[in-house]
Amino acid sequence: MISVSEAHDAIARFVRPLPAVRVPLGQLLGLRLAEDVVSGVDSPPFDKSLVDGYAIATTDSSELLRELELVAAGGVPRQAVRPGTTIRVMTGAPIPDGADAVVKWEDCDVREDGAIRNPAREAKPAFGVLKRGTAFRKGQTVLQAGKRIGPLDIALLAEIGQGDAAACPRPRVGVLPTGDELVAVHDALGPGQIRNSNGPMLLAAVAAANATPVDLGVGRDNPADLREKIAEGLECDVLLVSGGVSVGVKDLVPGVLTDLGVTEHFHRVRVKPGKPLWFGTRDDGQRRTFVFGLPGNPVSTLVSFHLFVIPALQALSGETFAPPATKRVRLAKSFEHRGGRPTYFPCRRTGDAVEPLNWKGSADLATLTQADCLAAMPAGDYQLEIGAPVEVIEL
Ligand code: AMP
Ligand code: MG
Repeated sequence: MISVSEAHDAIARFVRPLPAVRVPLGQLLGLRLAEDVVSGVDSPPFDKSLVDGYAIATTDSSELLRELELVAAGGVPRQAVRPGTTIRVMTGAPIPDGADAVVKWEDCDVREDGAIRNPAREAKPAFGVLKRGTAFRKGQTVLQAGKRIGPLDIALLAEIGQGDAAACPRPRVGVLPTGDELVAVHDALGPGQIRNSNGPMLLAAVAAANATPVDLGVGRDNPADLREKIAEGLECDVLLVSGGVSVGVKDLVPGVLTDLGVTEHFHRVRVKPGKPLWFGTRDDGQRRTFVFGLPGNPVSTLVSFHLFVIPALQALSGETFAPPATKRVRLAKSFEHRGGRPTYFPCRRTGDAVEPLNWKGSADLATLTQADCLAAMPAGDYQLEIGAPVEVIEL
């Protein structure tokens, strides 16, 4: 059995960013840019007014100015500002020829006859004006490769007229819960049956991890059904199978995976919950599918997802592979640990500290819903007192 960090190393050896594709603006949020974005335009594209006011020539010494016209954003001045004249401009309007400043409307003195007392003495050249190319110039790199795209980056792409960008696509992740005992959420439970909670959970967890979930239905515990559904799942970038990876007589998943050409890299990890975890890859020409056989118990499935699947998805999405980030916090309650495997124990935050929950093991999903982090408790038999430091992973 390998350790958690050996399992991370094994995954890191195989994951690499998915080949970049061009992604339209509406689907770019949260993706990593695969190349620098170079602007094809100046920003702003013309000298424009920053305020609602009067466009003037600061060299004009006339006492009174006559308004020639009014130009709003989207309009174009038809005339030039000459000595003794001004053009009223709204925010965003182009600066008329002959003008070099805009004085706010509130700061101007407009006489009853409509003439404006020339405010040139109080204005300096470029007052109230955003010159063409002030923000950036044509040919300038405005977004760097590797950046994770947020709403502002999308705005910038829109501003420069770029309707798509090269990015690492969202990995497509097939979700295949397995088990003869599983029935769907709306079905009544027969004897010995349970509802399939892993399926809906994993579909949601994949979406929350900024990947695209693919629902493969439920696999039954027979080689023919598993073969068919796993083969379909191997079309995805990542395949998550849950259940059937332990050592029971109905645990057929590893055998079917290897039959279908998936190479096993590890099976079983020294960790609690989540010991039965299976990991392999299948290469098909240029394409590589990553397969995780997750333990059947919902809590084990979710913990394995956080420990191993999320880092893999992030690496496929263009980040460097990294195990989940941990943070050191103090225990708000004493904690007793038994056993030779490290435990990722559900905890709830209480102020700056964390309180281990009254968790009843791998099938206890209800307690996990109250957790906001997992404390990594090292292997061994020991007691931790209130205030002891522990490393936690955010959920
Ligand atoms: P297995 O790994 O297939 O032996 O399953 C371990 C335990 O998890 C068994 O009690 C299963 O009934 C349960 N289990 C397996 N798959 C699911 C699922 N999709 N939803 C809820 N429980 C499951
Ligand atoms: Mg099973």
